[in-house]
Amino acid sequence: MNENKRKTAIITGAAKGIGRAIALKFAQNGVNVVINYRTTDPAELVAEIEQMNVDCLAVQADVGDFEQAKQLISTAQEKFGSVDYLVNNAGITKDGLILKMGENDFDAVVETNLKGAFNTMRHASPIMLKQKSGAIVNITSVVGLHGNGGQANYSAAKAGLVGLTKSVAKELGSRGITVNAIAPGFIETDMTDNLPEVVKTKLLESIALRRYGQAEEVADLVYFIANSKYITAQVVTIDGGMS
Ligand code: NAP
Repeated sequence: MNENKRKTAIITGAAKGIGRAIALKFAQNGVNVVINYRTTDPAELVAEIEQMNVDCLAVQADVGDFEQAKQLISTAQEKFGSVDYLVNNAGITKDGLILKMGENDFDAVVETNLKGAFNTMRHASPIMLKQKSGAIVNITSVVGLHGNGGQANYSAAKAGLVGLTKSVAKELGSRGITVNAIAPGFIETDMTDNLPEVVKTKLLESIALRRYGQAEEVADLVYFIANSKYITAQVVTIDGGMS
């Protein structure tokens, strides 16, 4: 690849929250960005990124759908000619105790949070192998490492993502492609906004730094790991000393 050519990053679920911060971080560093979104309109984010002198493409796709994920990756490849970074950030929660959890709530969380990452990696891997370069960062969670009552589906999907990350890292490493996971603790976004105040207060007491994390702090770590050429098959926790 021409070293002077602008690189391209695909960020899934990037219209808001942590994904949005990651997209801005890559754009600020001169990387063309593909904003994947499902329902949240990314128009404002696209306009903001276009002010940064990089190209930005918004692609609507449900990453849990194999064909839509394929379309996402191929659209990015056709537009920019390479897929240098893939950040699997799209995620949902459907919390509930195991005694009450419906089958659909289990399946939906696994489909987006685990299968979604498989789908995009499955389609991006051939491109990265051909390039002999690339970096994949998967957003898991501390809950995937330690478990959490009320989140059996989410914890299982995020734990599965750890195994998926480490295995794919071993498959792609010989071509210089890195695959890592980031495990955030409690980050202030829409996902955590709806938690009851009593839960938030209790959580805060368990965080050594006594504050919640910010999306931008996760984005800084994602960007660092994605550009660390000798770090692969790792899970890096960012939780303010919670776990
Ligand atoms: P968020 O604000 O709810 O954003 C999640 C994003 O994922 C949304 O843009 C959403 O799009 C998108 N998305 C959901 N399902 C999708 C699908 N099937 N296909 C494509 N996009 C999809 O949540 P967040 O806090 O930023 O979370 C980002 C990631 O960090 C998630 O993987 C989450 O599990 C992980 N995480 C978050 C925390 C935290 O404390 N916030 C902690 C640990 C890990 P729509 O809005 O269109 O549905």
